Amino acid sequence: MSRYWSDIVHRLVPYVPGEQPVLAHPVKLNTNENPYPPSPRVVEAIRRELGDTGEALRRYPDPSARRLRETVAAHHGIRADQVFVGNGSDEVLAHVFQALLKHEHPVLFPDVTYSFYPTYARLYDVAYRTVALDESFGIRIDDYTMPNGGVLFPNPNAPTGRALPLDRIEALVARNTESVVVIDEAYVDFGARSAVKLIDRYPHLLVVQTVSKARSLAGMRVGFAFGDAALIEALNRVKDSFNSYPLDRLAQVAATASYEDTAWFETNCARVIASRERLTAKLETLGFDVVPSAANFVFARHKDHDAATLAAKLREREIFVRHFKAPRIDQYLRISIGTDTECDTLAGALGELLGR
Ligand SMILES: *Cc1c(COP(=O)(O)O)cnc(C)c1O
Repeated sequence: MSRYWSDIVHRLVPYVPGEQPVLAHPVKLNTNENPYPPSPRVVEAIRRELGDTGEALRRYPDPSARRLRETVAAHHGIRADQVFVGNGSDEVLAHVFQALLKHEHPVLFPDVTYSFYPTYARLYDVAYRTVALDESFGIRIDDYTMPNGGVLFPNPNAPTGRALPLDRIEALVARNTESVVVIDEAYVDFGARSAVKLIDRYPHLLVVQTVSKARSLAGMRVGFAFGDAALIEALNRVKDSFNSYPLDRLAQVAATASYEDTAWFETNCARVIASRERLTAKLETLGFDVVPSAANFVFARHKDHDAATLAAKLREREIFVRHFKAPRIDQYLRISIGTDTECDTLAGALGELLGR
């Protein structure tokens, strides 16, 4: 604390990212990174951009990331003016709060969801109200019809992994025409259906995606919003009042190359999904209740063992999982899906810790 701080800094509650351990070979299942490398085409594209001398780095990158937007638009069958890009979808979400969710009524999001949302609401002084998930962590769309300044949730939800069917999402969007509805699809490729195809029909629908999870590019920091050109313009107005060049040259070519290799990404998603089903079965054998997941992580609870203690004991073995000290979920562990070998190491360690 310091008297030099602004009022807003005093009030902030910063998001706490999962630990990035400085260890040679941690079993790192705590931040939902992809266990497989990105497409070789991504590496080639970065090498090509760098060349022998790094000459290209002298110049600023394309501020509008035009080539990347065109490539991603073609991938989704939409227009480039329906695509916004930012430095990770976290940055995209930050601009969404400022540009589209700050109104007279509060923005609504679930009580159990991505913990960056309340952080951004405080940063930008956006009023919000949380809406309780049902007993099995499901989103009840009927609860989101009160007057609101926007609706926001991930599909599949984080950290629960539960997905809403697309027809439920469309029903919610169709009923909520007075405000923007934002669907954060960070995990959509692992088992949910994307709402991107609906943006032509609903000018108040915004879909947010990232290359961090399914495309193995968390280290490049690239995220998107897809929506009506007027919504995208609002985001660009904020972006161009903040940082003209949020995506560096390497990030732009890397993300573009990733969308030019769909087969690679589909193969890896399928591997992660298969490992998820395998790990779920193992955890159930160990006595865990596992929430049905459509994401690259599972959310699991053991009725006889405290989650925080389990997480700490795993950490001693250099196995990292995520535990949230938050209401309703403090007895759960969120476990990212690693390779089968990593999942087996985790299951083996849990077996020993539980005395099984
Ligand atoms: C990981 C995650 C993000 C952020 O992804 P980046 O693109 O890496 O910033 C956004 N929303 C949810 C729900 C996430 O889990």
